[in-house]
Formats: sequence, structure tokens, C-alpha cells
Amino acid sequence: MEYKTIFKCRLCGECYEGGCTGSENIAFSAAISVCLGVPSKDPQAPCMTEVHSCKDGGIGVADFQGFRKVEKKSRSNRKGITHLCKELRQIYR
Ligand SMILES: [Zn+2]
Repeated sequence: MEYKTIFKCRLCGECYEGGCTGSENIAFSAAISVCLGVPSKDPQAPCMTEVHSCKDGGIGVADFQGFRKVEKKSRSNRKGITHLCKELRQIYR
């Protein structure tokens, strides 16, 4: 499980991800710190606003939206293994 920082640009409207943490407690305390305006000791902690380089060349201001909970994708290599097995079968015929 990961908690990804989400920002939304006021100018272009783009929502994008910032940093992430695997700890719900760290995400929760970081979100509280942002809301209370308390500077965090963690240099990777999000700020309430940040500058966004918009795709159209504009320079926007993005707001911290919160932490999105995301399931970690399994790094299954099943397709690769299946492909390898087919190759081996052809070699050993
Ligand atoms: Zn933007």
C-alpha cells in the first residue's frame, strides 16, 4: 500500500502525483501538518502550494489535495516467463 501526494494546478487544472510514502501514519501526520501550516522536519513532506510547469508553457500554482491510497502493483513477470518457456520448447524440440 502506498499513499501518493496529489496536487491540482489552479491554472491548467491538471492533477498530478508528487512524492509517496508507504506509511499511513506518516501520510496522515504530513496532511495534518500541511493543514495546520506547521513546517515539517521531513524535507519530502508536501507544502500546501507549489509551482507547476503547465503543458501549455504557463506557470501555475498547484494546491495540495491530499494523499491517495494506492495498491502496489505486483511485479508479476508471468508473461515474460510464459514467453521464455515457449522459446525453450522450440529450442529443445
Ligand atoms: Zn498547470
